[in-house]
Amino acid sequence: MSKYLKFMNTPEGVQQIFTREKIGKMSGDEFEKYEKRIHEQLNKIAIPTNGELAHENQGKIFVWHTMSDGKVCGECDSMEGKIFEHMEDIPDDLHPNCRCYIEEIDLNAA
Ligand SMILES: [Zn+2]
Repeated sequence: MSKYLKFMNTPEGVQQIFTREKIGKMSGDEFEKYEKRIHEQLNKIAIPTNGELAHENQGKIFVWHTMSDGKVCGECDSMEGKIFEHMEDIPDDLHPNCRCYIEEIDLNAA
């Protein structure tokens, strides 16, 4: 599992990966909203470029999973099993304390 995915699968649930390009496109308000998280990511795994992340994406897909335990809210439940081809397209945790996580499937390791 890549360090990026490990960072996403924190105990609090999925957290989107901020790339340099993504941050560059943020408005002032958006940046303010995510500033703390961006710094946290910077300290732990740095801020990749889209190109660096694309390298991680090669031959892989990413699947959203809920904990499937009856405490899952409807919003998260609607995401269960959703497939993403690019890590940077995976959205943020849907709400505070979201327990969802991302499974990485290596298509070359079949
Ligand atoms: Zn969730």
